[in-house]
Amino acid sequence: MIGLSVLVLVGGAVWYFFRTSKALAVLMFHKIDPERQDSLTVSVRQLEQQLAWLQTHRYQIVTLRDVMTAIDQNRPLPPRSVLLTFDDGYVNNLTYALPVLQRFGRQAVVFVPTAFVGQCNQWDGCTEPLMNPEQLRQLLPTFELALHSHQHLNYKNRSADEIRTDLQQNLNAFDALNLPYVRAFAYPYGGRPNDPAIKQAMQQAMTEAGIRVAFRIGNRLNRFPIQNRYELQRLDIRGTDSLARFVRKVRWGKLF
Ligand SMILES: [Zn+2]
Repeated sequence: MIGLSVLVLVGGAVWYFFRTSKALAVLMFHKIDPERQDSLTVSVRQLEQQLAWLQTHRYQIVTLRDVMTAIDQNRPLPPRSVLLTFDDGYVNNLTYALPVLQRFGRQAVVFVPTAFVGQCNQWDGCTEPLMNPEQLRQLLPTFELALHSHQHLNYKNRSADEIRTDLQQNLNAFDALNLPYVRAFAYPYGGRPNDPAIKQAMQQAMTEAGIRVAFRIGNRLNRFPIQNRYELQRLDIRGTDSLARFVRKVRWGKLF
């Protein structure tokens, strides 16, 4: 009887290991600071330790283009694939994240709310400067640039028309910046419409606009085959997390 329980436990662990090893972990960062650590701010030292851990444990940092190609071709990414994403386009990403990524030879994505380029995070008290077009250009080619709504809107409580308009403004503003960008979207606050009809209209608008993937939060790993390309999940990486907690998130995501 004990033998059987052990077998079930070991079998479950092996099954879970293979399931998660074929999964894509998408990490969500916001601000990077030389000293500060809070829920939206990871310190330079923490970022270095996290990248070193990923490197030591043979995680492969993939690009947004890799992810989109894998989904288009319905083909899993290599085991232990990780996508690094940064929301909002803070100047501190250029100042502090770029040099660390260059040192490690890794790539990442910045999701840009285009109405606020060169301004500040007005949705959050204007506490931090956001990159201007020239600063966004300096991120290339280490960073890919992508969409984060024009007005940094929470789509959760918006009408289909409001969402469609905001999406179109996001694309038009990016076109006007004359910077290369990828047609991938990160929902501000992870918010998507509650109403299934509006959600469907939003996804339809994304398809028509040529947007190929969109990221919510959700805090789980993404397993192939991907069920819905507009519902990819990201892991919220916080400066208040220990390295052990970071590792748990990357390996398992949220279990329940
Ligand atoms: Zn944001």
